[in-house]
Amino acid sequence: MEIFKTVNVQKDPQNTNIESIEKVRCLIIGSGPAGYTAAIYAARANLKPVVYTGLQMGGQLTTTTEVDNYPGYPDGITGPEMMENFKKQAERFGADIRFGIATDVDFSGSKHRVTIDNNKVIEADTVIISTGATAKYLGIESESKYAGMGVSACATCDGFFYKGKDVAVVGGGDTAAEEATYLAGLCRKVYLIVRRDVLRASKAMQEKVLNTDNIEVLWEHQTIDLFGENGVEGANLIKKKGSPDEEKVSIKIDGFFLAIGHIPNSEVFNKFIETDPVGYIKTIPGSSKTNIVGVFAAGDVQDPHYRQAVTAAGSGCMAAIDAERYLSELK
Ligand code: FAD
Ligand code: NAP
Repeated sequence: MEIFKTVNVQKDPQNTNIESIEKVRCLIIGSGPAGYTAAIYAARANLKPVVYTGLQMGGQLTTTTEVDNYPGYPDGITGPEMMENFKKQAERFGADIRFGIATDVDFSGSKHRVTIDNNKVIEADTVIISTGATAKYLGIESESKYAGMGVSACATCDGFFYKGKDVAVVGGGDTAAEEATYLAGLCRKVYLIVRRDVLRASKAMQEKVLNTDNIEVLWEHQTIDLFGENGVEGANLIKKKGSPDEEKVSIKIDGFFLAIGHIPNSEVFNKFIETDPVGYIKTIPGSSKTNIVGVFAAGDVQDPHYRQAVTAAGSGCMAAIDAERYLSELK
């Protein structure tokens, strides 16, 4: 028996900009590991999920080369290939994957309305938000020149490639302190480039950094550019910029790690969905439930701590199961 309605497209008489309204059981916003995993589980539970991919189909991993820490790939796999596999697996069970961006939401009623590309409304019984988080970069030209060739925003992902080498971490917060400490366990030397003369990190993290022999803190330093023939070989820095003691400094490094914060992609939802002060969506601990009944969040957009493909996929699975249980309780 067909339990769930399939899509039902109609004209919206209220709003002239909106071309159509479509009713769906489960709408998934985002196509990274969290979104595609949610799609696999939701499709297998017969929720007939519709996935909107956003601009970056496949998510952040499509910007990297080797992924070596995702279980099940003993020889590693490239990020784009892995995400293509996720997509194919979701499609195998009937997930409807479409290109489009969520541009507005209205979660004030029991039917959750999401506007796509400013001209189409999806009215969904359940919504899974899996829009990820974006690492902040300094904005210098050489960051993009050496992307994947020495520049990284994830020490847990890429640190292993720098075993026994010299690297730098930029930032003075908890993430920078954590990444520097992690890298110190793998690398020969870690420079921590801090723009002020204090760390923003918690006292405990500061102590860890300052008591680790192979971490050298470069106080009041800013990065001007990176150099190297076929990858990063060093960084040009400026010390005490704008003061009489201003000085140019050059360090030799093989890897340059950004740890100056992330921006969760939650802005479009934050009229209705509760976030922490940084913008990470708050979920009820141990679940993917947000403050709005029937709206769930998965992956980096709700995870300030781990931000890994496997944790994103795991929470995508949780969100689909939570959505399925919510719908079955409604019946
Ligand atoms: P994302 O992968 O960020 O996907 C977010 C999705 O949401 C995208 O499809 C985007 O298009 C979509 N989206 C955003 N806004 C909207 C909108 N308004 N409407 C519709 N869609 C929207 N992790 C590992 O475990 N191992 C690694 O080796 C590893 N390497 C990495 C290398 C790099 C260079 C980077 C940047 C990250 C790496 N990570 C790695 C981290 C990993 O990529 C993330 O933890 C993971 O991708 C998060 O998955 P996600 O599904 O939450 O979000
Ligand atoms: P954050 O606290 O916002 O710190 C960002 C750091 O980057 C700051 O030191 C900032 O310098 C520096 N920075 C920003 N822009 C810069 C630029 N253009 N050039 C050079 N430096 C720049 O971000 P976060 O460290 O990612 O932490 C985010 C949140 O997660 C925090 O609440 C943190 O406590 C939490 N967190 C907790 C843990 C933990 O408890 N284990 C681990 C990680 C993160 P200034 O200090 O000069 O502004």
